Amino acid sequence: MAGFVEVSMRDVRRLAKHLGMTAPEFEKKHLVSRRAGRRRIKSYDETCQFLGEDRRCTVYDARPTHCRGYVCWDQPDRTVYEFASMAVLPLRKLRRLERLERQEASRRSARS
Ligand code: SF4
Repeated sequence: MAGFVEVSMRDVRRLAKHLGMTAPEFEKKHLVSRRAGRRRIKSYDETCQFLGEDRRCTVYDARPTHCRGYVCWDQPDRTVYEFASMAVLPLRKLRRLERLERQEASRRSARS
């Protein structure tokens, strides 16, 4: 689940470069303290800090290897996202995201 994504040093270097930072800067700002050599992305508002308001990964091109091996937030199959949303998001925030999504879908259909 996002917020608990483990990252390797290779992931750290790739993400740091993507964000224009050094690896130590990235570690300090974006990772929780290491335990037994494990590094994890800090969660934000109980979900992954890199998950955008539009439910897309804001570091998609440089996303961690861990994120590439399972259905994640911006994939067509949103089962994982829906489950995680129910599990971790306050209901009010979830409803707001759903409303934004409906508005976006409505705008898209009006354009086509
Ligand atoms: S794909 Fe992006 S938003 Fe999803 S868990 Fe990984 S880093 Fe976070």
